[in-house]
Amino acid sequence: MATPPPTEKKRSARSPADEDQVAKKARSDDPDKGPAFSDIMGTDMLDIYVGMGTEKKLFRVHEKILRDKVPYFDKMLSNGFQESIDKKIELPEDHVNSFDILLLWVYTSNIQPFSWILNSANGSDMKWDVFKVYELADKLCLEELMDEVTSTYIDASEKQDILPSITSIGEDCSKLSAHMGLKKYMVLCLDYYLNGMSRESNYYGSGIEEFVDLLSVNRELFLEHMQLVHQRPTGQLAPDPRKMPRCTFHQHDAGVECPLKKGSSQRTS
Ligand SMILES: [Zn+2]
Repeated sequence: MATPPPTEKKRSARSPADEDQVAKKARSDDPDKGPAFSDIMGTDMLDIYVGMGTEKKLFRVHEKILRDKVPYFDKMLSNGFQESIDKKIELPEDHVNSFDILLLWVYTSNIQPFSWILNSANGSDMKWDVFKVYELADKLCLEELMDEVTSTYIDASEKQDILPSITSIGEDCSKLSAHMGLKKYMVLCLDYYLNGMSRESNYYGSGIEEFVDLLSVNRELFLEHMQLVHQRPTGQLAPDPRKMPRCTFHQHDAGVECPLKKGSSQRTS
């Protein structure tokens, strides 16, 4: 019987732990090599159940990357909470599609591409619900994801020449909080409708009654609109918010470097 070469013998004698140590040493000796897949992901898995009833869906995710990327879950899974013992989290009030987009971001640092879907009634629908994902990101204190969603939404709106409908401004603004950049965008869209567009524009075709209805039932929106009107020099038109720098609507402070490191197509400054 042939004797295996000495190197083969040595390799087979290593335990998995030895292999791990060797791999780590090799990485530390070579700073150009990034972290290994197992360093990023870990090996522990979590079962996350999102939604209720027939909508309920299981997401099986790597605990380490989720905790590293989302401090909300890191807290939930620390200090002997039941979730950390069971390796199971229930999120009945969250939406499956929004959570799916969140997890894509957790794993890849990217979000699903967004665009408007034009329908036959001359209206448009969102490819995915920007506002639900934005609210989820806010709940989880993920400002970078909020900013990513905002930029993606406004980029598509500019590219496809679409403004939120008056109904959307009314409904979505009431769900958004004052600290949210996306709310600022919606308020500026309303200002642009009323004080920045020519009367001949198609956008204005919905008729003044729709704006009156909106502002008469939404006192907060009315006050914010009046504030913008008073701040603007006499005779100056309201700007198109889609042409403003995206950082105007981000959560980070003004003057701080934008955390979004995207291509030059994004108006981040
Ligand atoms: Zn920014």
